[in-house]
Amino acid sequence: MSFISSWLRDDIKDISAYQVPDAQGMTKLDAMESPFPLPDNLISQYLAYLTNVELNRYPAPKALELQKTLRDLMGIPDHFGILLGNGSDELIQLLALACNTGDTVLSVEPSFVMYDIISKFTRINYKGVELDEKYEIDIETTLASINKYNPKIIFIAYPNNPTGNAFSREHIVNIIDTAKDSLVVLDEAYYAYAEDSFLQDINNFPNLVLLRTVSKIGFAGLRLGLLIGNKDTVEQLDKIRLPYNINTLTQVSANFLLQEKDEINKNATTIISERAYLSDNMNAIGELFVYPSQANFILFKAPKAEGLFEHLKDNGVLIKNLSKSNRLTNCLRVTVGTREQNKQFIDVVKNYYGRQ
Ligand code: PMP
Repeated sequence: MSFISSWLRDDIKDISAYQVPDAQGMTKLDAMESPFPLPDNLISQYLAYLTNVELNRYPAPKALELQKTLRDLMGIPDHFGILLGNGSDELIQLLALACNTGDTVLSVEPSFVMYDIISKFTRINYKGVELDEKYEIDIETTLASINKYNPKIIFIAYPNNPTGNAFSREHIVNIIDTAKDSLVVLDEAYYAYAEDSFLQDINNFPNLVLLRTVSKIGFAGLRLGLLIGNKDTVEQLDKIRLPYNINTLTQVSANFLLQEKDEINKNATTIISERAYLSDNMNAIGELFVYPSQANFILFKAPKAEGLFEHLKDNGVLIKNLSKSNRLTNCLRVTVGTREQNKQFIDVVKNYYGRQ
């Protein structure tokens, strides 16, 4: 037996690692990134801005300038607190660390897999409540589970990954209002592509916090996420944040790049119209069942999904294969790309089904 297998906790041995496939040379439509690189006219200014960075010093501990930049970009009122994370993944982990061993985290299923994975390695019970057949919250079952398991945290992705829909506002308010002892975390990673947000609802509910990220609006490489909540909530949670968790290059880059509000908003508008283009063209193929999306990706059901996924890969297009996941039989997920990338994807799908 190897050293590590005798040393490691059994429950960690049982966790399967988060898989990231090799995407070299592929049209990358698998991870909900933005397809838009930095505009050429910004690159030299950006590099000049970086020359003043003091890499021999630790980063600004609370990153206050960056907090202000994010408030301006996302319209976050001054009376809300902000907690920054090295990606919103880190904030999900931080919330899990705030729980007692034996507490329960509840989410819906299918949803973002990290709620489950992080609960496992932080020794928290995870309960996934199944969505209904349209991937909407099944409110009766959810309220019954809240009553039964008394969860410490309820994670709801809004819009949801991987299904792409935004759940009923009425159901979410009902959950926040009923689960008064639970911290309800609305994960708005895809806020830029959605019709609604719960940002202002933080004023009404002491048990509500939001997660957001810059990963889906063009800056996945920076690894920067934020938790938004009442100031007293954020002040307490901040104790668990590791010192200097947001590195200097991320802080400085985000301070510069996130000033480009018009560019960021223009790109989001383009993605929303490309989403309609993609969805219309996918529907026109006939074989596919396309789910509605308020995010920068589309979930669809396809006959012989596994074969289609491989055919796309063989033709240089990488998407996400969910067809073996629970409740997602024959489902695949494609990220909205540029017009050229979307066309390439559509052409390969048509080719697979023998259509013109
Ligand atoms: N929440 C949701 C719903 C996501 O889909 C993702 C990433 N796919 C994340 C959080 C993590 O984002 P980040 O890059 O900020 O860690």
